[in-house]
Amino acid sequence: MSLAERTGRERRLTNAAAVVERCRKCAIGSTRTQSVYGEGDPCAELMVVGEGPGETEDRLGRPFVGRAGELLERMLLAIALPRDSVFICNTVKCRPTLDDGVRLRNRAPEPSEMANCRPYLDEQIEIIAPRVILALGAPAARSFLGQKFSITKQRGLWFEGPSGIPLLATFHPAYLLRQTGGELTAVKRLVWDDLKAVRGKLDERPQPLAGEAIQPELFG
Ligand code: URA
Repeated sequence: MSLAERTGRERRLTNAAAVVERCRKCAIGSTRTQSVYGEGDPCAELMVVGEGPGETEDRLGRPFVGRAGELLERMLLAIALPRDSVFICNTVKCRPTLDDGVRLRNRAPEPSEMANCRPYLDEQIEIIAPRVILALGAPAARSFLGQKFSITKQRGLWFEGPSGIPLLATFHPAYLLRQTGGELTAVKRLVWDDLKAVRGKLDERPQPLAGEAIQPELFG
């Protein structure tokens, strides 16, 4: 990847993040502290897509920086992917909240919020053009694969994501953090299988375009 290409992508992502920061399509655009656009390598081969920012992410303006984020970092490192080598973002860029009268609580994003935010996610995918997308949890997976997607039955399978990019879904790290005992061991094993599948897909060499197989000297 040339420096010019990298710089161009960085500039496009910065501009897109500024547009997201001004966005008020949903009510959560006005209740959040700041938008959480996403971060990572603009030339990443892997894009990780979570559900939506939580309280810590909203405060810091960065995705996956709470406990689930720490676990995500360990999961990625287990397949030799440091956090800064991938691009991490969410289906929605603002923290979805519920006001219970005492404080704002996290909640899952509404389908309408995901739909409003989708152009921003699509733009991120278009700019970064990852080789693989990893969706974390059912809501993120459903945003790509439809409402019938079942995380228990269909995690670990390869699907065609946006622009034909291979997409796999696994359990959300926050779900792992809620498990204990034998259940935790079982879920960890499944997630580990999924992570290895991602590693395997990244290790497959991209097929050369038809023309690339031709030696340049043949034209001389
Ligand atoms: N959970 C998510 O889905 N996204 C974050 O950024 C943090 C926690």
